[in-house]
Amino acid sequence: MSNSNFSVRQLIEASACTGCRLCVDVCPAVSAAGDGRLSGLYRLTGLRRIAGSRAGLLARLMRRGPIGADDMTRFGETVFKCTLCANCEEVCPVGLHLRDLWYSVRQDVVGAGAGPRKVEAIRENLEETYNVFGEDNEERADWVEDLPDAPEDGYVRDRADVVYFTGCVAAYYPLAQQIPMAMAEIMEARGVNFTLLGEDEWCCGFPLLGAGLKDQVRTFIDHNIEAVRKRGAQKIVFACPSCYHIWREMYPPEFEIFHFTGFMEDLLAQEPFPLGPLDLKVTYHDPCDLGRGARVFEAPRRVIRSIPGVNLVEMPRNRENCLCCGGGGNLEMTDPELSAGITRLKIEEVLGTGARAVVTACQQCVRTMTTYVRRNDVPLEIMDMTQLIHKALKKS
Ligand code: SF4
Ligand code: SF4
Repeated sequence: MSNSNFSVRQLIEASACTGCRLCVDVCPAVSAAGDGRLSGLYRLTGLRRIAGSRAGLLARLMRRGPIGADDMTRFGETVFKCTLCANCEEVCPVGLHLRDLWYSVRQDVVGAGAGPRKVEAIRENLEETYNVFGEDNEERADWVEDLPDAPEDGYVRDRADVVYFTGCVAAYYPLAQQIPMAMAEIMEARGVNFTLLGEDEWCCGFPLLGAGLKDQVRTFIDHNIEAVRKRGAQKIVFACPSCYHIWREMYPPEFEIFHFTGFMEDLLAQEPFPLGPLDLKVTYHDPCDLGRGARVFEAPRRVIRSIPGVNLVEMPRNRENCLCCGGGGNLEMTDPELSAGITRLKIEEVLGTGARAVVTACQQCVRTMTTYVRRNDVPLEIMDMTQLIHKALKKS
């Protein structure tokens, strides 16, 4: 193996860490597991050792021998016990681009054959079915049939102004399907000329980044771009922050792209529409990819506050400091126990606010937190922003 999975900047960054430990203090994996080996600081130490042990100038300079397969496997185990929440990057005083670095470290570990076996399942599912669950991709828009007034075309149209890119979790996971259902009804009610891509929608490619398979994302990008072009749409709207994130970061900037929160705010600004009172005390959970990732903090809060009767209270850790829900980085697949441990910390913080419901803007956060409260009988409502708006619309 060589260090070709890392850019020169990343190799320099790996050596620029001052050891201040700020990333250790905020890491949800460290807090939930009580294990400092899951921190960014520890990972950088491992990375320097591995990078320095490989053939080439660096190895000669550092006078390091080759690293053993067992060491690589042990390192690989810790690398995937991370939600890729980027809280470490947020607090790093040196400004290290840690999340990108974690993607590259995963790619390196998988390339060395030391990644978790579950990663293979992600790759196989995406290669064979184009969705992360390994389901039939023709069924991607089947949730439309559960709508009370489902249109005959199932919202899959030849041409439209806006494409609603559903994402795998909302398309297939029953608990999350309420989100696209709410979203479609809101857009229909506001007269948005939109279409779904149906079976033409492939996974956005985001799970491949977390699986250490960055090089395979290109196929998915090319396919999805072409599918949107065919519809003649100029705008794409996402309810999933991870789809939105990868379109912002890796897709060519050909279309105007929106997360639902911003799209909704624009709709309300163009023509305010009646939202009924809800009499609800809520707190807002910033999804990592929307908050720290895309710096969208205020739009969702403004939309929540626009609903009469809704009292928004903040958690101690909010906006750029928000604690991850435990659902990122494919952690649910590779270490469900650790993922649930992080969710427990999140739910405790939510309950501390006295809110009756937690609103978020991500289907994966909804899925992770709902699964936890159901399994543990916690009296807390979890809902996506789309569901909150849908509720208020129905009351109007
Ligand atoms: S991305 Fe989040 S979970 Fe991963 S090391 Fe950084 S703070 Fe910890
Ligand atoms: S916060 Fe940055 S500089 Fe401090 S220990 Fe972590 S990676 Fe190193």
